[in-house]
Amino acid sequence: MDGQHWRLEPDPGRFGPLYEMVVVSESGRPPGAAITHRCPGCGREEYDSMKREFVLTAGMVADTDVLYLATTLWILVNRRVRDLLLDRRLTMSN
Ligand SMILES: [Zn+2]
Repeated sequence: MDGQHWRLEPDPGRFGPLYEMVVVSESGRPPGAAITHRCPGCGREEYDSMKREFVLTAGMVADTDVLYLATTLWILVNRRVRDLLLDRRLTMSN
């Protein structure tokens, strides 16, 4: 992130504290997801979106409660996490 655009909230106690959730698991790549580019900075792979199949198979999913989808970086949770969030009436958007 570009440090020049950081601006401190004058009253962070209004909404905080906030915590970062670090997702360390990632799905496997779907069929047809040939790597078209690899970011020289972080190693993140990019795929040919026209050839990539939109499927999620059991073999692609790690045995974990929270994971990234490899090609979209969407964050998925399993039923245990879903139920926990709903039971606690936690709210989220985006
Ligand atoms: Zn990168």
